[in-house]
Amino acid sequence: MGSNRRFTSSLTDLLLAAPLDIEKYEALYKHFHEHPELSNLEAETAKTIAAHLLRLQAFKTTTNIGGHGVVGVLENGPGKTILLRADMDGLPILEETGLPYASKVTMPDVEGVMRPVMHACGHDMHMTCLLAAAETLTKLRQRWSGTLIVLFQPAEERGTGAKAMIDDGLYERHKIPVPDFVLGQHVMAMRAGSVGSKMGTIMAGADSMKITLFGVGGHGSQPHRTIDPAVMAAHVVVRLQTLVSREINPGDISVLTVGSLQAGQTENVIADSAEIGIDIRSVRPETREKLLASIRRIVKAECEASGSTVAPLFKMTRHLPNTVNDESMMKTLVKSFSEYFGDDFDANIPTTTISEDFSILATSQGRPCAFWHWGGIEEGLWDQRLKEGRIDDIPANHTARFAPVIQPTMRTGINALCVAALAFFDEKLQHRL
Ligand SMILES: [Zn+2]
Ligand SMILES: [Zn+2]
Repeated sequence: MGSNRRFTSSLTDLLLAAPLDIEKYEALYKHFHEHPELSNLEAETAKTIAAHLLRLQAFKTTTNIGGHGVVGVLENGPGKTILLRADMDGLPILEETGLPYASKVTMPDVEGVMRPVMHACGHDMHMTCLLAAAETLTKLRQRWSGTLIVLFQPAEERGTGAKAMIDDGLYERHKIPVPDFVLGQHVMAMRAGSVGSKMGTIMAGADSMKITLFGVGGHGSQPHRTIDPAVMAAHVVVRLQTLVSREINPGDISVLTVGSLQAGQTENVIADSAEIGIDIRSVRPETREKLLASIRRIVKAECEASGSTVAPLFKMTRHLPNTVNDESMMKTLVKSFSEYFGDDFDANIPTTTISEDFSILATSQGRPCAFWHWGGIEEGLWDQRLKEGRIDDIPANHTARFAPVIQPTMRTGINALCVAALAFFDEKLQHRL
């Protein structure tokens, strides 16, 4: 928290009026961290969340929405309906943080393959902060009016959880009120204590696909009798590297990554086929269309160049929309965060190529949303790496050594959720800002 924070602010006064047993939440965070679960398998995590909400004795709680989704609704008089969202899943990564509460968990994924599991994206921090914010806002319920929804979403890492909750009838069958405003946050490799957001697109959209290339297999010693899919795939991978670098405007944000490449099982056999897994990120819809079309063009041309007689197979495996922050919501958010966090809040961070499915919870209902990032990197380490010009050496999300420092990360995440919710609940409070 910054030296410039003004303690005269009404929001600060409000939050100070509801002190939390922060040690309880640090223990809860360590529990989540030590017991991560893979996407679509968040059963124990959901139980812990539901039990915690029950103890607050204020939320009507619904479980098993779109898989293991959990939603608590606190109806507190007339006013706006605000939805705060956290995601729940871990990643198939073997943790190497060396923390005393590091995960040692392995579990079979949805296909039955044993995987190590780690909360390598900070979703454990997201859940903890949202539960703590739920308690704070419950304690403060004499001071605001409206309906608070706390939503815990499964399977964010697969990009399917938000849509699964909507498809399961979140706002219809499960009768969760349609929110006026949808808010969410993500802990990032930024300086702990800092918070950042931006008007418009804060996070790029993502598309993933699997492509099968068909060759003709045979004996490793007789390549002239085959069409080698490994060589074909190698050409495709190299040629795809020219797509962003040679075909997309350098001022436009886009990424193309070949994340998987599989051909054959052994040294002396040429395989029949190869499979390539591709992930793209884009901000402009035209760029997305161009990337998708150019991938097809390159793959088809390389297959033809190799003499393949069977057309390649394209299968889209994932789509995440752009996360676009609503303009009018951002005015309220920027006012409240600037007042509460002072210089620790940056209202114009760069758009990131990391993607989220969060916005589906709002856009599916034609409602606006706003999202922000906050820092999890210990201040001393951050400042030192910054001085050395080595910021990118700090282990970031999705790496085996990603380890947010518990404080001030947790307090910042809790306060950001509470400040945002209070600002959107209380029009009078908005006017006073
Ligand atoms: Zn992630
Ligand atoms: Zn994440």
